[in-house]
Amino acid sequence: AAKRSGRNAYQLFSPSMSRSVLEEAQQRVDMERGLEQEQFVVLYQPVVDMTTQRLTGVEALVRWRHPDDGLLSPYQFIANAEANGLIVPLGRWVLREACAQLARWRRETPAAAGLKINVNLSARQFQYAGLVGDVAAALADAGIPASALTLEITESMLMEDVTGAIETLGALRQLGVRLAIDDFGTGYSSLNYLKQLPVDIIKIDRTFVESVDTDADDVALVDAVVGLGQALRLQTVAEGIETDGQWAMLQQIGCDQGQGYLFGRPGDAASVAALLARDAAAAPAGV
Ligand code: C2E
Ligand code: MG
Ligand code: MG
Ligand code: MG
Repeated sequence: AAKRSGRNAYQLFSPSMSRSVLEEAQQRVDMERGLEQEQFVVLYQPVVDMTTQRLTGVEALVRWRHPDDGLLSPYQFIANAEANGLIVPLGRWVLREACAQLARWRRETPAAAGLKINVNLSARQFQYAGLVGDVAAALADAGIPASALTLEITESMLMEDVTGAIETLGALRQLGVRLAIDDFGTGYSSLNYLKQLPVDIIKIDRTFVESVDTDADDVALVDAVVGLGQALRLQTVAEGIETDGQWAMLQQIGCDQGQGYLFGRPGDAASVAALLARDAAAAPAGV
């Protein structure tokens, strides 16, 4: 078991972790059962065009409907799934579910023709040798084009092994999927690496967006990141937009897309269909 846990084995036994080893082991058993019994659900949060606020895509965010503990947020189980290795089957399930749901929206409504889906990858999934095959299979089984899928990875995942990361990203890109760096600004990627990485999108972390309408330093930082994105021909997405003030400032800075409670919380498939209908009513798709 220690070998299977790989480099994360010691995280499991770190004294700084609040959960006991016994609780961790119990959660693994629970999680395996949860996967079998389909207790996990995927919610979808809108990603919108920064100027028009029209829906351009959604981010898939997993939840666990735990039979005893209620609805659990990813913060309550992803790290443990990462440590015990179950993130690989769980992540594969999220990926397949998200691709299948995108196909359903596209079948149900013409307004979803250009809709895109974002799926988060964990470090362990990113290192898993079967990842590219899993992604190709998920796309083929759902019958959606690779260009409709964006995979989100964090800076730390990329910097751990830059050469390996470039190889994996290249293989994913070869499939035609798009790649986003999530939580940008919280990691430690150097400009030199960023230039080498075959990515398409930078997602600016919520911590910079939070006071972008009140703090001149944050304005300068976000402005610099958007400029960096433009220089490297990457799209920029601001995360965690909650107020009109933040939205106005980000729009002025020239950020391409936005995500946050202002535009919509993570919701079920029907909530996304409602947004598609809203946009279609405001103006016909493609106009
Ligand atoms: P993330 O990928 O950065 O996702 C954005 C998180 O910010 C989501 O939290 C979302 O609900 C939250 N959020 C969005 N807009 C706002 C806002 O305006 N204000 C505030 N305060 N929060 C906002 P969530 O769903 O709890 O997910 C947390 C993290 O868990 C995600 O951060 C991602 O790193 C991870 N995660 C979620 N689903 C998956 C998954 O399927 N696989 C993996 N590996 N990780 C996942
Ligand atoms: Mg994300
Ligand atoms: Mg993020
Ligand atoms: Mg974040």
